[in-house]
Amino acid sequence: MSHEDHTLPGTLVIRAEHCRGCRSCQLACSFAKTGTFNPARSMIVMERHLADGRAAPMIKPIGCDLCGGDPVCANACKYGAITYEAGPSDVKVAIR
Ligand code: SF4
Ligand code: SF4
Repeated sequence: MSHEDHTLPGTLVIRAEHCRGCRSCQLACSFAKTGTFNPARSMIVMERHLADGRAAPMIKPIGCDLCGGDPVCANACKYGAITYEAGPSDVKVAIR
């Protein structure tokens, strides 16, 4: 299997310190993927950021398909905690 077989269309970049815990990303993901507004059915879980105790988004690597290159979670986040960098990538999610 060649390296190209693993290349993704882009990367979701998580900046936990910007997250306000509003859950808009979870609602957007669950609606896009299941047609329901249900954070529990989202590909995003909110976890405590160990460094400062804030809530922070974590993307489930299995299940997330990067929305085909137009991630609704990144579009839904107005605080810059989830952004999308288009372009060939080896990793689906980067923590910065
Ligand atoms: S990542 Fe953005 S949209 Fe999701 S809970 Fe945090 S601030 Fe809200
Ligand atoms: S990119 Fe992944 S986590 Fe974000 S909305 Fe799409 S499936 Fe959900």
